[in-house]
Amino acid sequence: MSSRTARVVVIGGGIVGSLIALRLADAGCDVQVLERTAPGAEASSHAAGILAAQSEATGPGALFDLAMESRALHASLADELRGRTGVDVGFERHGVLDVARGAEADALVAKHAWQTARGLSVEVLDAKGLRAKEPGLAAGFERGVWFPEDACVDPARLVKAIVTAAARAGVTFRSGVTARRVLLEHGRAVGVDTDDGAVEGDAVVLAAGAWSGLVEQGLGNPASVRPARGQIVEFETSVPPLRGVVFANGGYVVPRADGRVVAGSTLEFVGYRRGVTADGLAKVLAVATRTVPSLGEATVARTWSNFRPFTDDKVALVGTRGIEGLVVATGHHRSGILLGPVTAEIVRDLVVRGNTRHAIAALSPLRTIPSA
Ligand SMILES: Cc1cc2nc3c(=O)[nH]c(=O)nc-3n(C[C@H](O)[C@H](O)[C@H](O)COP(=O)(O)OP(=O)(O)OC[C@H]3O[C@@H](n4cnc5c(N)ncnc54)[C@H](O)[C@@H]3O)c2cc1C
Repeated sequence: MSSRTARVVVIGGGIVGSLIALRLADAGCDVQVLERTAPGAEASSHAAGILAAQSEATGPGALFDLAMESRALHASLADELRGRTGVDVGFERHGVLDVARGAEADALVAKHAWQTARGLSVEVLDAKGLRAKEPGLAAGFERGVWFPEDACVDPARLVKAIVTAAARAGVTFRSGVTARRVLLEHGRAVGVDTDDGAVEGDAVVLAAGAWSGLVEQGLGNPASVRPARGQIVEFETSVPPLRGVVFANGGYVVPRADGRVVAGSTLEFVGYRRGVTADGLAKVLAVATRTVPSLGEATVARTWSNFRPFTDDKVALVGTRGIEGLVVATGHHRSGILLGPVTAEIVRDLVVRGNTRHAIAALSPLRTIPSA
């Protein structure tokens, strides 16, 4: 694609679509975002916001490098957005602590040993070290791994700031417009058919989160992205009971600076069925109170569920898929907040320059994904 004022149509106004739109507008493109409901209405505003580049890493390689780069980009994005919109996105680098009991404690330390071997910023703690680090933690955790550079954001504020900055940069958000199909002419994308008529463009970006497979001609294989429901509980506390994020008991607890504490989450394949269930709530409350007992006294302020865009290999789909003018940016599953910034840079470069300096072979929408 050339860098003349390209008209780009982005399908989906979550963190992925909105941040891509902002970066494309900054690069001089004329961008429209088609959003079925309202920007940020779905997963992106309902995530926990953990930037777990190290604490959720499965091993070294290109995906780890992208996650680390994206975590670093979040720090500068927070500053940039404060300057452009006045919104504080709640970026906090208080670290992430992964803790375990009994036999699981050794497995936990072994799981992250490769990071120590590579000299990354990581520390193994014993029970005494854990108590010193997080006095609010339940008794009985024997070991933990501390990732001081992992961080978190308030995702709802982040998306709001991105959308505001993008609108100021000239992006048009069309709320209440559903994309039905990517329009192809002679094998290239020329726009999008919507429930409000056709929208022409020189390029189309598919960033419709868990719904990406429902846009005809979007993904090569519509089944490659499916919804994975997650339920969350938000508490109100007068004094935050933790200093940083804690992974424990098969879930996580995330303190926010204003006293809110978020705990999650379930991972359920129930199609697009929304809702907080008794079982889901019970599971998340157990994670919260078995990790931080004082949360048993806290007020439950809100509960919600939303849909992660899941792929069977749990890796996002970012790149082209053999149709000129069409770029796919979806399937970020549990890491879309973390990976939003690097995804936006990759897609901007693919749209504007036709290539990227990033190693994205592992993200190819054309890869063969084994069934989970
Ligand atoms: C409970 C939970 C906790 C999470 N915690 C974390 C976390 O701690 N850290 C992290 O990094 N990630 C986390 N995630 C994952 C993260 O939220 C997602 O990966 C990310 O938000 C995906 O962003 P998105 O823009 O692709 O999707 P979304 O935010 O879902 O946006 C997609 C948008 O596309 C719109 N759309 C859909 N179909 C169409 C259509 N046909 N036409 C027009 N618009 C359409 C939707 O309305 C929606 O607004 C969590 C997710 C959940 C559910």
